[in-house]
Amino acid sequence: MLKFFNTLTRKIEEFRPIKKGKVGLYSCGPTVYDFVHLGNLRAYVFVDLLKRFLKYKGFKAKHVMQITDVDDKTIRDSQAKGKGLKEFTDFYLKAFLEDIKELNIKEPDFIPRAIEHIREMVVLVKKLEKNGYTYRANNSIYFKISQFKNYGQLAQLEKQDLKKGASGRVLKDEYGKEEANDFVLWKAWQKEDGENFWQTEIGKGRPGWHLECSAMSMKYLGEHFDIHTGGTDLIFPHHTNEIAQSEAATGKKFVNYWLHNAHLLVDNQKMSKSLSNFYTLRDLKEKKYHPLLLRIILIKIHYRQLLNFTFNEFEEAKAIAEKFINFLTNLDFIQNKESNNLKIDFLINHCQNAFGKALDDDLNISQAFAVIFDFMNEINKLADRINVSQAGKIKKFIFEIDEVFGFIEKLDDEYKKFLEKKKSVEIKQLLKERQKARELKDFALADELRKKIEGLGLLIEDTKEGFILKVRDFLGKI
Ligand code: AMP
Ligand code: ZN
Repeated sequence: MLKFFNTLTRKIEEFRPIKKGKVGLYSCGPTVYDFVHLGNLRAYVFVDLLKRFLKYKGFKAKHVMQITDVDDKTIRDSQAKGKGLKEFTDFYLKAFLEDIKELNIKEPDFIPRAIEHIREMVVLVKKLEKNGYTYRANNSIYFKISQFKNYGQLAQLEKQDLKKGASGRVLKDEYGKEEANDFVLWKAWQKEDGENFWQTEIGKGRPGWHLECSAMSMKYLGEHFDIHTGGTDLIFPHHTNEIAQSEAATGKKFVNYWLHNAHLLVDNQKMSKSLSNFYTLRDLKEKKYHPLLLRIILIKIHYRQLLNFTFNEFEEAKAIAEKFINFLTNLDFIQNKESNNLKIDFLINHCQNAFGKALDDDLNISQAFAVIFDFMNEINKLADRINVSQAGKIKKFIFEIDEVFGFIEKLDDEYKKFLEKKKSVEIKQLLKERQKARELKDFALADELRKKIEGLGLLIEDTKEGFILKVRDFLGKI
């Protein structure tokens, strides 16, 4: 039974989709005024894991992630660069899509941009006006939270807590004068906005940040959908306000399950632009770290656990990657056609069940990894009693679970290509000579040749049927 921790109830709940076999999934996307940092990427790797597992379970998920391409920061920085908002944000949107591709994150089915959905936002504000949830001040339109009975339920806030909880960014960008916690739906044009405004039925201006997500999620997923994700910093006020606006407009429950990922920390502080304690994927690549190692780092810790980022994490991720590559390489070299180990099918079935069960439990990823590692250890023990077709079956199974993990097959492919490239004419010649020396039982010469080959960055593992050639430290600095 699939279960998630629902922030709305603070309980682990069974997942029941609104429509059988289908899932409507929405994630808050980036504000495209700069490259995303590793903390943001944690949020996107988390939703990728969730989506991949839903698919693995047979659900058809429709995933929407909005792009914030109009707000104080995008306007400020585009003006500083002397660029139009669209041109400026296009650049960072493209960079974002490149980053997620490198982490093997599947692209959302819809990636709506705020500036292309102003009409939908205006319609939503008009509905809220009609339903009596708004007021105007200095030509801006605000949402009156005292009018909305359940305000703050998601964040479990008591009314007196509301002021304390509001962050600096929110006060600046989304709050108005009349009541500190009322938030802006439509921001009237000010001269600092320059050319960045829309002339609409509700006035000249631009939308508030919270409004974007309500308008775009409901456009693509309907007024009531299954899952909404984001980092815990978004619980209040962003998601709290999304709920208020959406439910006040439609009179329906907005979202059934709210899933929030914990933060990525640096020195025990949230990685964030404002603290200048962040790295981007580009920084890591400059330092020659493989992007998929970052995927492993971000995926292997439970999404609701804080992760204090240090560069030591890469060593552990590398060990995990190598474990899988080694396992698959050894399977490729199996040539045994006779023995038929009856335990293999049992081990695969057992592992498959345990893997599904672990992730069913609110994506218990550590348990899922443990189950797979146990399986690989068991198989390794049986290595010389596995036949070719069983080796194929095991490999197929590993690639199946990789539909969820999302790094094994890709790394294995890269590894093979890398190995082929390494096998220069010189190495091929040395290998031949070494084989010949072994046949002639000239072990001293064979040993000398092995050392030469190793000096060129390769490893030789002798087996009953010949030898396996491996790359030494493939994932070292690349
Ligand atoms: P933003 O562009 O700040 O709205 O953030 C985009 C996404 O990244 C949101 O889901 C945030 O909650 C998430 N996020 C931001 N910083 C971190 C962090 N340090 N760790 C985990 N998630 C984060
Ligand atoms: Zn949002």
